[in-house]
Amino acid sequence: MEKNILIVDDSPTARTSISFCLSNAGYTVTEAVDGKDGLEKLDEIKNKGQIVSLIISDINMPRMDGVTFIKEIKKTSFKFVPVLVLTTESQESKKQEGKEAGAAGWLVKPFRPEDLLWIIKKFTRRPHGSKTTT
Ligand SMILES: [Mg+2]
Repeated sequence: MEKNILIVDDSPTARTSISFCLSNAGYTVTEAVDGKDGLEKLDEIKNKGQIVSLIISDINMPRMDGVTFIKEIKKTSFKFVPVLVLTTESQESKKQEGKEAGAAGWLVKPFRPEDLLWIIKKFTRRPHGSKTTT
């Protein structure tokens, strides 16, 4: 089964390195530049009848930050898709804010590719992705 992952980050370098790491591991990747773009990309994916196994989001982004983005996802049919936060933000209060918004996991940049893949495997094994088709 195809594993579709959405990456939302305003840093082109971060998007490229995460995307490279995931594509090499056999995942299909969609990129978005901020929360607003992320919601648009989710709409496009939904309209194509595709599913998303996992969403990886940055926190600090223009137009719509990661915490707001996660809150918005929870209002859509993608609400069961796990969201992994990947950020330079290691502050405990920020982490708490992310968790309250509904983030499933938190990984602080810079990350090691093997750590990212390990955590992604853990999340995409769960059957959440299938629920987004309904
Ligand atoms: Mg950022």
